[in-house]
Amino acid sequence: MHKGAHSKETTLAHAGRQGKSVYGTVNSPVVRGSTMLFPTTAALHAAEGTRSTYGRHGTETSLALEQALCELEGAAGCLLTTCGVSAITLTLLALLKPGDHLLVTDSAYDYTKGFCKGVLKDFGIETTYYDPLAGADIAAWMQPNTRVVFVESPGSNTFEVQDIPAIAQVAHRQGAHVVADSTWATPLGWSPFALGIDVSIHAATKCIVGHSDVLMGAALCTEELHPVLRRMYRALGHAVSPDDAYLALRGLRSMGARLKQHAQSALAVAQWLRGRPEVAQVLYPPLADAPGHALWQQQFNADYASGLMSVVFAPDVSVQAMERLVDATRLFGIGFSWGGYESLIVPTHPAQSRDVTASRWAGLVMARLHIGLEAPADLIADLQQGFAAMRA
Ligand SMILES: *Cc1c(COP(=O)(O)O)cnc(C)c1O
Repeated sequence: MHKGAHSKETTLAHAGRQGKSVYGTVNSPVVRGSTMLFPTTAALHAAEGTRSTYGRHGTETSLALEQALCELEGAAGCLLTTCGVSAITLTLLALLKPGDHLLVTDSAYDYTKGFCKGVLKDFGIETTYYDPLAGADIAAWMQPNTRVVFVESPGSNTFEVQDIPAIAQVAHRQGAHVVADSTWATPLGWSPFALGIDVSIHAATKCIVGHSDVLMGAALCTEELHPVLRRMYRALGHAVSPDDAYLALRGLRSMGARLKQHAQSALAVAQWLRGRPEVAQVLYPPLADAPGHALWQQQFNADYASGLMSVVFAPDVSVQAMERLVDATRLFGIGFSWGGYESLIVPTHPAQSRDVTASRWAGLVMARLHIGLEAPADLIADLQQGFAAMRA
């Protein structure tokens, strides 16, 4: 309906709005249904293969969200799951079989690695973890049976930016698929299919939903892989609730405005943190002197960024002192997940979940911050009194 030369902001406002032609409401309504009725057997047969004939295969609400995400990211297909982790496990199960080999960035979300170490290993699928900074050197890790190269950029908690085009070139040379955890970028922050990614996964729980109240996952893919993913999706019986799809779609509409603000505010807080004597490094790729900034500029859209970053404290800051800072903040909630309108802070210990790059992070005292939509000056003042409590 609104495909074509529009900017992503315009697509955000219009994509997937079938509801307006049905009921006249702006938003696609919450359509609840397991059974779908057909007036005649002929109508039933005509529907088969062309539209959903059963609630598990999608309702108007979930199909509207799928369509909007496809349009935004330029994907041919979208599979919605009940959380980010299930979108990741669905994709890996769909693309791999016993005897296959998989490469996973050492910086991947810990449940992604946990699934590889547990279930995939039991199924006879072997995983090798590679250095997220590898780029074209990934060729050294490739095996003849490598079928998937999993990337996550920037990496969870440590924010390494990966050279996706170089990695994709090596993977595609031998017919391996590139699967990305695109959660930090969101569909606005990069164009994964243009970079060479075959499946782009989002924990929609984070910035797409944007209000910390729904779990949702999405796997977006090329035309070639859509039937492959859909086969596994149906075999495993994945489906999402229409209420959750409605809330995710509602969150999506304001994602452009939110991510512009997250980007501005997070950069302001990151620059301020960078100047603190208690801080050794701020791991936030949009920050000019952060690791990976040049690669980030090449691959990401600078207007939209998540507000998630990590702080590496100076060597004289103890874990106890860092936790005094975390406890002293008033505007930052202490908790997991991120991407909502509210700021969060939590201690992070990346060395514990690294297989080949643990030595880079061993012994470092770190915290992860999500910069929400509060005024950055208030967040900075809150952190300032947190630093005072740290020294006390
Ligand atoms: C949170 C997160 C996930 C998992 O999403 P859930 O909806 O919590 O299952 C996956 N990848 C990244 C990068 C995340 O931050």
